[in-house]
Amino acid sequence: MNKERVQELVTQLIKEIEGSDDLRPATRDTPRRVANSYNEIFDGYRLDLDKDIKIFKAQYSEIIISKDIKFYSMCEHHILPFYGTIDIVYMPGEFLLGISKFVRVVNYFTHRLNVQEKMTDDIANYLMDCVLKPRGVMVIVKGTHLCEIMRGVKQSNPIMITSAIKGIFKSNPTTRSEALELLKS
Ligand code: ZN
Repeated sequence: MNKERVQELVTQLIKEIEGSDDLRPATRDTPRRVANSYNEIFDGYRLDLDKDIKIFKAQYSEIIISKDIKFYSMCEHHILPFYGTIDIVYMPGEFLLGISKFVRVVNYFTHRLNVQEKMTDDIANYLMDCVLKPRGVMVIVKGTHLCEIMRGVKQSNPIMITSAIKGIFKSNPTTRSEALELLKS
């Protein structure tokens, strides 16, 4: 992301929004602030996830859950935030992944322009295909979308839930029920 270019574009955008030829004193520094925050909010495009993912040999073969990982993302239709929590469930094969690495995976896929459904699937597919090689993965995302709250039909608490279920959790209903039961606790 070219910060100077973003600053120029945001300057134009503010002028259009306010119908003015100049920025007000109060917004004069806004393009720089927006460029800096976009640089952070959209750093998913720059991160090198494969380099960050360090696995270790598993001494454990049962279901593992990393619950309520906070996420913030931007909807690709309105460039407005959506945010919430992500639960990641996996059944290890030969390897385990440190809990903090799941936060990195989440940041990599959420710090972009997104739709929640695809984001959910991208996280699950990445974990299935990466060096972790788990026997199964389940990803459950609960998101609140500002584009829904701020525009059109206003609801008090519209939470959207999406899930992606892969591997053993898809093929084996008993294992899936066990995971869902654990998620409730
Ligand atoms: Zn939207």
